[in-house]
Formats: sequence, structure tokens, C-alpha cells
Amino acid sequence: MRIQCPYCGERSVNEFSYLGDAGIERPDPHASGAAARFFEAVYLRDNPAGPHNELWYHTYGCRSWLCVTRDTVTHEILRVQTGGAH
Ligand SMILES: [Zn+2]
Repeated sequence: MRIQCPYCGERSVNEFSYLGDAGIERPDPHASGAAARFFEAVYLRDNPAGPHNELWYHTYGCRSWLCVTRDTVTHEILRVQTGGAH
């Protein structure tokens, strides 16, 4: 698989680190039930089939955080944006 980095161009996936789902929001640690919400955010994940927004880090390149929209069925990269979740 290859990822089109906006700064470095098309690169092998081996240069990147997968950080997971880009859509997870960090719970408020001061809210009631925060422990249960953190447990859900950290351990209970969806396993979608189809387009999915993921966080990738260009570890062996420009060291940028990227939001990659990837089809989890075909592994086709549909979109790459700079920064975190979009
Ligand atoms: Zn890069």
C-alpha cells in the first residue's frame, strides 16, 4: 500500500505509523462516568467495512500527522489531509 503524503509525495506505507481511528473524541476526564467513557474510547472500537478516517504519522518522512480516508475492504486510499481528524 502507498500513501500520497501532501508534503513528500507518494511513499510506501512502511514509512508511516498507524495511529487508529481519527474519529475518536477524548472524553472529559472531569465529567461523571469518565472512567466508563475512557474505557469505551480506548477499548471498544468499531470495525467498519468501507471508507474509514484513520490517523497516520509519517514517521520516516516529514513527521506530519495525516488523516487518511481508506476503504477498509479494498485498501484504496480515497483522501489524505494534513493534521488530525477532519
Ligand atoms: Zn511526509
